[in-house]
Amino acid sequence: MHVFGLIGNPVGHSLSPPMHEAAYDDLGLEGRYVTFEPDPNELQTAIEGANALGVRGLNVTIPFKRDVLELVEPDDLASRIGAVNTIDFSGAAPTGHNTDAVGAIRALRDHDVALEGARAVVVGAGGAGRAIAFGLADAGATVDIANRTESTARELAESVSGATGHGLDALGDLLSDADVLINATSVGMESDESPVPADALHGELAVMDAVYRPLETRLLRDAKAVGATTVDGGWMLLYQGVEALEIWTGEDAPVTAMNEALRRCLSVDFTP
Ligand code: NAP
Repeated sequence: MHVFGLIGNPVGHSLSPPMHEAAYDDLGLEGRYVTFEPDPNELQTAIEGANALGVRGLNVTIPFKRDVLELVEPDDLASRIGAVNTIDFSGAAPTGHNTDAVGAIRALRDHDVALEGARAVVVGAGGAGRAIAFGLADAGATVDIANRTESTARELAESVSGATGHGLDALGDLLSDADVLINATSVGMESDESPVPADALHGELAVMDAVYRPLETRLLRDAKAVGATTVDGGWMLLYQGVEALEIWTGEDAPVTAMNEALRRCLSVDFTP
């Protein structure tokens, strides 16, 4: 029996167990995906314990993504982002990875969104915004980051190759000649609002929302209305899991089975 899991707090509403266990079924792997809520003061003990017990891999979510960086050997991308969302226990020491970045890029590529040489605008500079900005720059896009707190966007832009930071008031200008727009704020999750004025959108854009509950956010509805390509937040969630599974098993993930399991869960009404 192979054990995988998720550490964070809270983890009760996680969609990762059904998504990953659908993959184990498809691969014929006898595995379980278990959620854990360790005490923040016991994080190191939790990771050492998981390693000692032979856990194969852990995903990491809020509030531990940054703290875990110090407790594992992070790869280059996770170090640059400053956050780990996947721990692999297969080596001599646990290694840390950030599959949110690669997940976002794979979600866009899955929808035939060209990134090499593209002009990309990321709205938001929190955990998701950081990962996505690094992922886009590594994929060859020119990145503009717009955030409610402009200083955070500017700080992030200083560490992302070729990026520039802005306040939200710059969105109209930035989007007029942009190819890709990604919402990495939490706006749209709790209420039917968009962080981007609808009149700044146009049909040449590919628009991805990191928000996945609801799947069809106000931003994506506005984007569809002007004929833009849209990618919902379920795709980023799917591909961060696909990437983690591939790190842990070394096998190609059964993307269709994982997507079907995820979409089944996302279609159920959810109250936080
Ligand atoms: P976070 O670190 O707390 O960052 C939140 C971001 O949203 C910050 O940039 C913040 O701006 C901005 N923000 C919050 N309220 C706002 C408002 N009313 N108006 C404008 N901007 C606002 O959160 P996170 O971890 O990055 O997550 C952000 C979203 O991405 C969440 O909905 C999360 O569920 C989603 N997410 C999805 C995936 C996926 O796989 N699909 C993965 C990770 C996260 P300030 O800096 O000004 O506060």
